[in-house]
Amino acid sequence: MKTAVYPGSFDPMTLGHLDIVDRARCMFDKIFVAIAINSAKTTLFSLEERRSLTQEVLKDRKDVEVVTFEGLLTDFARDVNATAIVRGIRAVTDFDYEYAIYQVNRQLNPSVDTVFLLASQKYSFISSTIIKEVARYGKSLAEYAPPEVSEALLKKFGHIV
Ligand code: ADP
Repeated sequence: MKTAVYPGSFDPMTLGHLDIVDRARCMFDKIFVAIAINSAKTTLFSLEERRSLTQEVLKDRKDVEVVTFEGLLTDFARDVNATAIVRGIRAVTDFDYEYAIYQVNRQLNPSVDTVFLLASQKYSFISSTIIKEVARYGKSLAEYAPPEVSEALLKKFGHIV
């Protein structure tokens, strides 16, 4: 049984994130989508909102479990017997940051490796930050976010009730 952890803020989940989850599912038997509890980061959605929204998006994927975690990612990976961390890379601008985290995680727990998936072309410009900006002005998010996320975002900004 090959298990991987896909960690992130998921504030909120985009079609780019979803694409990474589905591609990782082809490689692993079980994926933990792990939402980090990070008090240093300001988020639009609370941790509970992000957990339930992500869970709603992924509810039909029985091999995917949405969890929240606090502390070191490598400790979480060890606790759930994951052998890999999955991360997505959109452009070279993501690379330096991801490479540094990879090196640290490798030192902290050499038995967990990181698998980097390059963003699919059609999602390569999508980020949580960008979809929040589009939603703020009430524009359609159909091309960027799953329907549940579009609805939650448009509600958050008062464009629908
Ligand atoms: P973090 O705060 O850890 O960067 P994010 O929720 O922003 O969390 O992203 C989680 C992971 O998904 C990161 O590896 C990020 O590079 C990747 N990612 C984000 N958007 C996309 C996308 N459009 N295509 C591919 N990977 C993406």
